[in-house]
Amino acid sequence: MDLFEYQGKELLRRFEVPVPEGRVASTQDEAALAAEGLGGKVVVKAQVQVGGRGKAGGIKLATNADEAREVAGQILGMDIKGHTVKRVLVERAGDIKDEYYLSFLVDRSERKFLGMMSAEGGVDIEEVADTNPDAIARVHIDPTIGISDFHARKLVFGAKLDPDARKGAIAMIPKLYRAFVELDASLVEVNPLVLTGDGKVVALDAKVSVDESAEYRHPNFAELKSAHEVPEQERLAKEKGLNFIKLDGDGDVGIIGNGAGLVMSTLDVVKAAGGEPANFLDVGGGAKAELLSNAIEVITSDGNVKSIFLNIFGGITRVDLVAEGIIDAFGRLDVKIPIVVRLDGTNAQEGRKMLADAPHEMLHSEETMLGAAKRAVELARSDGGAR
Ligand code: GDP
Ligand code: MN
Repeated sequence: MDLFEYQGKELLRRFEVPVPEGRVASTQDEAALAAEGLGGKVVVKAQVQVGGRGKAGGIKLATNADEAREVAGQILGMDIKGHTVKRVLVERAGDIKDEYYLSFLVDRSERKFLGMMSAEGGVDIEEVADTNPDAIARVHIDPTIGISDFHARKLVFGAKLDPDARKGAIAMIPKLYRAFVELDASLVEVNPLVLTGDGKVVALDAKVSVDESAEYRHPNFAELKSAHEVPEQERLAKEKGLNFIKLDGDGDVGIIGNGAGLVMSTLDVVKAAGGEPANFLDVGGGAKAELLSNAIEVITSDGNVKSIFLNIFGGITRVDLVAEGIIDAFGRLDVKIPIVVRLDGTNAQEGRKMLADAPHEMLHSEETMLGAAKRAVELARSDGGAR
């Protein structure tokens, strides 16, 4: 679960990581009040779980409460990469002498934690990794041993920070590491970490992702989660007991499959066929008409979807029962976009024959996964079955 910046900072504060003083506001009045409380000169920051807010106009400076009200008005309600801004973080603005990058993450291939630091902060770290990889200092930390001073020094000297920032950064690194470990985070990223005019080292931004599997030892995760709104379609799906995920971007192929693994590979195959998935939905082991109708309904409620790839492999679930469910679902729904069905596994022959015997203008059968993916992509391109 990716936390909002304000949530991440609040958690980091508990581990004594220096962060600017700030308050969350969801209205212009609240923003003005927050600015007043902070002494006037503030920065107003859009709270969305996506980077690049600065470039998108979601971060603005204000020199007094009235200005804070005005810029909050511009930022609240703004759309940043498909995320609507519901809250802003109003923070005391400091003067920035230098911007750095610092993060901790899990390096699964090394079975260790990885700390990264760079003097090139405030910019996309992937870009630094591409254009100037030597500018990123890395240290692996054995989780069973933990962090030592030499790790911190290796990061700070390796990244060639301004000498004025060394002391503050070396003090902060073990605190950030402790936060990372104790929060069961998969990522803690501070970009930028800044050196202020008066020589302090402060986390100006915070991206914290916590592992939801660890929720049982973090009662506060539920509260953190409640600030996140689930998209309307995902909520609808959840109500119907379905796992539905909307993907970012402008994909147009909806994907339904049984089992997470099959669904993931279906996404890959659609990509390989030159298409772009819009969303995906896992129906698990279910084959009932009601479940399949619900699944089709949820998928088609996404206006971007121009075709659906329904990919079923029958293991324990019998394919003929799935076919029955599909035919039944077509009877219940007014299906207006083409659905390409690929059935394989237990009783696949019977299932395919049943579909062949119950033709529908919007029902297309394919025997292979790649064949079905290609067909679904083609149909999405030709603007559905509107032939
Ligand atoms: P992101 O663009 O979503 O990663 O948002 P950040 O929080 O990293 O902010 C982007 C940039 O805005 C930073 O690199 C800073 O240059 C600038 N910025 C953020 N907060 C402040 C602040 O308090 N004062 C000033 N002067 N600039 C800030
Ligand atoms: Mn940032």
